[in-house]
Amino acid sequence: MGPLATAATAFTPTDVLVWFLVTCVFASLTAVALYRRLSRRLNSRLDAARSQLDELRGRDSLTGLLAGPDFEAALDDAVRACDQGTAPVALLYIDLDDFRTLNDGYGRRVGDAVLVEAARRLALSARGRSVASRLGGDEFAVLLAADLARASDAAAALLQALQRPYEIEGLKLQLTASVGIAVYPDHGSRPRLLRHALLAMRAVKLGGGGALAHYDPTMAVDVREQAEMLQDLRLALERGELQLYYQPKIDALSLQVTAAEALLRWQHPQRGMVSPAVFVPLAERHGLIVPIGRWVIEEACRQAAQWRDRGLRMRMAINISGHQLRQDDLVSQILATLQHHGIPPGRFTCEITETVAMEDTGHTRAAFARLKQAGLHISIDDFGTGQSSLASLRRLPAAELKIDRAFVTDLADNASARSIVQAIMQMAHSLGLRVVAEGVETEAQRDALVALGCDELQGYLFAKPMTATALALWADRDSEGQGDAMFRPSLFDATAPLALGP
Ligand code: C2E
Ligand code: MG
Ligand code: MG
Repeated sequence: MGPLATAATAFTPTDVLVWFLVTCVFASLTAVALYRRLSRRLNSRLDAARSQLDELRGRDSLTGLLAGPDFEAALDDAVRACDQGTAPVALLYIDLDDFRTLNDGYGRRVGDAVLVEAARRLALSARGRSVASRLGGDEFAVLLAADLARASDAAAALLQALQRPYEIEGLKLQLTASVGIAVYPDHGSRPRLLRHALLAMRAVKLGGGGALAHYDPTMAVDVREQAEMLQDLRLALERGELQLYYQPKIDALSLQVTAAEALLRWQHPQRGMVSPAVFVPLAERHGLIVPIGRWVIEEACRQAAQWRDRGLRMRMAINISGHQLRQDDLVSQILATLQHHGIPPGRFTCEITETVAMEDTGHTRAAFARLKQAGLHISIDDFGTGQSSLASLRRLPAAELKIDRAFVTDLADNASARSIVQAIMQMAHSLGLRVVAEGVETEAQRDALVALGCDELQGYLFAKPMTATALALWADRDSEGQGDAMFRPSLFDATAPLALGP
């Protein structure tokens, strides 16, 4: 027998059976793997088809809530109904706080489950009365027929529902949310409504989230508008669109005018008069406040000299931004301009807000030291809103303290505002500071302030901010004895080269 015959005889029936079984097992394993791959592919195709179907039906495929375009259509319908006389329409813009951290930390599956659960809670509390939608990512919207008060109640209930713990895959997760509210028609036209609700939501985020806010017009300057406004603001100076208005400060006892505060105005060719509350923060953020502030100093000094030459004797006050204070050449610029116009530094007030004044940095300390050395009159503006203590106030070389308008507004009918003003007054007087109350609008406020010992008053009750010409006319009328306030006899004889009247 040859070697071949030997090999052939080595395959016994058992060997064949084993071979057969191995082949069967291998074949079935391959079949299972193939089947799995196929069914996975089929499933994902099915999922895609299902989400396409959801989208066709106007639903978000993850949460089942109404998707963007259909939500917009629902909003159109609601606005149309409101125009025909039904209730106002409230739009709530909801964003989960720090959702990205949760998604990155626990993974997409947990993130998706949270979104599904959040959507379920929204749909549940929205049931019957309103329409809930997923705008994308972790952003949702709820639409309801309600005025601001009812919308705020609904938003508070939604916040509570969203902030209950989420139990997912054995984890107990806690979330907060931010809600912005815009009500049609009070908070804007249909095309702006969603954006205004978004701006309100962003305002909540800026404050740390976990709360609700309704839209207010100061939020209206959105990113695009800000960019446009910034472009225009860059050109405002050279186009001569900036102007100073002046508001007098009045001695509380003698009613003599002690000073005029210069307040910036921007006459925009399309927007009309823009408030400094809008454009000063913009100028500060984009490095424009320094050249604008330089112009304010120049213009205020020029005007002070002109008034002095007409015989109007008062201090000129300007507002100084924190950014200007950090410029090393601020004081030398003020001094040079004052000298050019022949105005003594003691007749020029620099108003610096309490929060800026209390920044205890090297820059502010050095700036205050230079202001003091130059002999300028320093006033702490908007006092009472910050955290000043007697000790911190003592180290500032200030001569004047302006009580914030908020306290003055509440003075007549709020006992705690009265005791705060009284405490500020005592503290200021103990440091030898004069106290000015700003925003005095009523006689009741004036009387309360005088009774508490306030030194100077400023507010619409006496005069609104006005142009330089209007102020000169006001002074003339006053010097003829027709006004309430008097420019004579002057508090500042030294700056009065011309005699006024008989
Ligand atoms: P501020 O220095 O505290 O000025 C007082 C604000 O209250 C002014 O608003 C004034 O018009 C307003 N006001 C005065 N009396 C009354 C009143 O009786 N009732 C009410 N409701 N308001 C009154 P304005 O002119 O809109 O200025 C807002 C703020 O903009 C100023 O607050 C100041 O912080 C800033 N600002 C204005 N001009 C300048 C400037 O030249 N430079 C800088 N850096 N900031 C400026
Ligand atoms: Mg001021
Ligand atoms: Mg103020």
